[in-house]
Amino acid sequence: MIEVNQDQEVIVGYLSDASNTTGHADGLLRPSCAAEVSEIMKHCQQHQIPLTVTAQRTSTTGGPVPYGGWLLSTERMKTIHSNTEVDGGVILGDYQRVLEAKGLLFPPDPTSRNECSVGAAIACNASGARTFRYGATRPWVEAVEVVFPNGDIQTISRETPIPADWPSVHWTPPSVKTAAGYEPTDNLLDLMIGQEGTLGIITKAWLTVIDAPVEVLGLIVFFPSLKDCLDFVAIAKEGAQRPNRMAEPDALNPRAIEFFDHHAMALIRKRVDSIPATATCGLFMEIEHEGDPNLEQWFEKLEDCQALVDDIIVAENEEEREKLYAVRHAIPAGVNEIVIANGMPKVGTDFSVPDDGLWHIMEAYESVPMEHILFGHIGDNHLHLNLLPSSEEELLFAKEIYRELALMAVSLGGTVSAEHGIGKIKRDLLADMLGDYVINSFRQLKRRLDPNWVLGRGILFTE
Ligand SMILES: Cc1cc2nc3c(=O)[nH]c(=O)nc-3n(C[C@H](O)[C@H](O)[C@H](O)COP(=O)(O)OP(=O)(O)OC[C@H]3O[C@@H](n4cnc5c(N)ncnc54)[C@H](O)[C@@H]3O)c2cc1C
Repeated sequence: MIEVNQDQEVIVGYLSDASNTTGHADGLLRPSCAAEVSEIMKHCQQHQIPLTVTAQRTSTTGGPVPYGGWLLSTERMKTIHSNTEVDGGVILGDYQRVLEAKGLLFPPDPTSRNECSVGAAIACNASGARTFRYGATRPWVEAVEVVFPNGDIQTISRETPIPADWPSVHWTPPSVKTAAGYEPTDNLLDLMIGQEGTLGIITKAWLTVIDAPVEVLGLIVFFPSLKDCLDFVAIAKEGAQRPNRMAEPDALNPRAIEFFDHHAMALIRKRVDSIPATATCGLFMEIEHEGDPNLEQWFEKLEDCQALVDDIIVAENEEEREKLYAVRHAIPAGVNEIVIANGMPKVGTDFSVPDDGLWHIMEAYESVPMEHILFGHIGDNHLHLNLLPSSEEELLFAKEIYRELALMAVSLGGTVSAEHGIGKIKRDLLADMLGDYVINSFRQLKRRLDPNWVLGRGILFTE
């Protein structure tokens, strides 16, 4: 017997996500295992009730926001069964802390890791600063338990083929970090990763963990010009991409390279007294090491690229690293304060481009004619440009700029979403990026699995 909570005073707490869009729903269900999820799924199919999966609602794209029907919350599925086996509703940060206490690491590190769930991180192929070294969530998932739209429960791995009678999805994804659209693959696991709650509900996952690095060193480095900074980024990336980098003492080998521009610098000034007057931008970097981090090597290459080496901040121990994280966190936190003061939503990009498009798009970002702050994962050519409108008119202008930049990212061979996904608010951009033929192949697959279009209606594309 399915128990549906229809109390709108409770449901109202589940209707929005971090995109600030709000929907409506007739019922809320909080199953505690796959069998209950399956029962709900079958009931929804039988009665053609739209069902939206909601986890922690940190999505910035409206994915968990329902427009009618029922909501299925994963919040009660939160058992950490072992170091490698967790329920879909477990908070990622909670899981990582359990591992950390045992000297282990599950590398994917979305900034929202202390709020978001493991199941959603898989469903959205989430990533973070460490993705530069370790990749997004996808390579760290070995198997998942999924409830399909017909209610079937299946445990799948990369050995599980996609059934031969399912329509196939053919397209060539850009060769950049991307979280936009179904993965073209012949195994069922990779299809389930990044499907954003449209093809199945992930109730449990088996994950790969590794030994935590012995030590991690943090650096903040300032540069006099964007060109100098990008020259250094190119050297650091080249080193990090060498196949034998661990054995090559002259290769710089950062695990994260994060950029901030001169507008972002204003936000960290309160926490860092020593920002040099000639600095126009900077990098946060992390280096994993055992014993000697080989800093001379770093300083030499930084000096070659005109970095302001006398003002480098080095964080060697836990306490110093915490301070460095606080400096880094001051940027998104400062952006949020400006958004609140302006009384208008920010318009933030999530595009990435191939290496040869980086300079082009960075110049375009820095020359937008309205208040903005640029920071993010430059190691993956993935920056967040935050446009900060202060009136309705500026908001419309910001949306125009955003769309132009999205088209530029696509024309450079990049993606309209590197990590936040498409959800319900970026469907147009996905269509711009992939075209009707590919979107129609997604539709055919969706229709085969979910003929009544019950699960995750309106996510990625419309019916
Ligand atoms: C401050 C902030 C920082 C962020 N930083 C990052 C970042 O660095 N990197 C990054 O990748 N993202 C980031 N995000 C976006 C967001 O946190 C991720 O997309 C995250 O994976 C969403 O997790 P959630 O538990 O909140 O899921 P929700 O927002 O509740 O749902 C997200 C989507 O996944 C689907 N879904 C949820 N659970 C399941 C499940 N078990 N099975 C199938 N489908 C499911 C939902 O239907 C929805 O479409 C950030 C968001 C915020 C607000």
